[in-house]
Amino acid sequence: MILSKLASSIVESPTLRLNEEARILREKGESVIHLGIGEPKNKAPITAILASAARLSGGEVKYAPSDGIPSLKKAIIRYTEENYDKVVAPENVIVSAGAKLSLFNVLFSILNPQDEVILLAPYWVSYPEMIKMCYGVPVVVTPEDGGFQPRMEDIKRAVGSYTRAIVVNSPNNPSGCMYPESFLAELIEFCEKKGIWVIMDDIYHKLVFDGKTWPSPYKYAKKDLESTMVIVMNGVSKSYGMTGFRIGWVVTNRKLVSVINNIQAATTSCASTVLQSAAEGALTGMQSMVEGLRLTIENNRNVIMQELKTFRDIKCVPPDGTFYCLPDFRAYTPRFGGKSVDLSKFLLDKARVVTVPGKEFGMEGHLRLSYAGTVKDVMVGIERIKWALDPNSPNEIFLGDRKMVRDWL
Ligand code: PMP
Repeated sequence: MILSKLASSIVESPTLRLNEEARILREKGESVIHLGIGEPKNKAPITAILASAARLSGGEVKYAPSDGIPSLKKAIIRYTEENYDKVVAPENVIVSAGAKLSLFNVLFSILNPQDEVILLAPYWVSYPEMIKMCYGVPVVVTPEDGGFQPRMEDIKRAVGSYTRAIVVNSPNNPSGCMYPESFLAELIEFCEKKGIWVIMDDIYHKLVFDGKTWPSPYKYAKKDLESTMVIVMNGVSKSYGMTGFRIGWVVTNRKLVSVINNIQAATTSCASTVLQSAAEGALTGMQSMVEGLRLTIENNRNVIMQELKTFRDIKCVPPDGTFYCLPDFRAYTPRFGGKSVDLSKFLLDKARVVTVPGKEFGMEGHLRLSYAGTVKDVMVGIERIKWALDPNSPNEIFLGDRKMVRDWL
């Protein structure tokens, strides 16, 4: 069987693989704590449900314009004005079946073979694979100090004649860190001068803690919307906890939107109109649910930080937002050959806790822990990890109703 070399080179999503392993264990009746999840536990906003139900009960579910239904685009324009302080036209907006697809469409529209895209480690796992799918080359910039804040000097050193774009995800999956405004200002100014696209993956921009404010990238763009290199990507998955609805969008100049529109017309035609109506319902409904979700997650962040502090030799940069943190487990990785993948597997095998290995995000020796679940998940999950790794923790533990004795330390 001959398969595409490019397609065959795309690796399996590690998060989905771990989810599958955890699902099988749960099906067998095992008590599994999931600290790998990438979605909040809330129910979808009622306004989203009602809007999609109204579309369905009307019975008219047909093809829509491939850039999105006009009423959703209108809601996105208002969202952009309110959250980004930027007035945009309908021709600057295109809706896709999830922000993931929005990003893929952007990359497909701007890259020629061998063009380079700069990624800032730690980065979201899907970026390198998507870039490769567009025949591009991911170029990873890793902070030398082992922290999570990128430095302009390092980025400038990585830029060459093939550099076409840089992806910025702040607040960041997996670290939860937000980049300083001074960094964003300098980066956008530099990229506008050099003609490098700045792809802002703003999917977590509403989930920010400690009274901090997320800055609109347009604040730093010197050029107008039609000539700036800033591309904004967003969606309803995280802020509204609507991951299954699969609606994302891009705001950029008209030329790029029309190219993406042609690609979308030739591939998916359009995102489902039922789900576009749901997204419209979420964007135009009561926004207090977003704040409720943010507060729940901030509380979970406080709990996980507290629990991690009691853990010997674990360092963790407190997240400014998202529902992830990326603790440094290097004190514990030597017995796993330094490999976070093996550590993660060990924790699932012995302690029945799902974590995501830092290697997948360009940060070996770390584990990404999600606090999107319940407070109980967070507390029990950390207790189990501590039991499996820290000889100072009690020797016995209950995994559900199964008593386990540690015999490996
Ligand atoms: N960007 C980042 C950084 C993400 O973490 C995710 C979801 N895990 C997405 C984009 C994709 O969002 P969507 O569900 O809208 O495709």
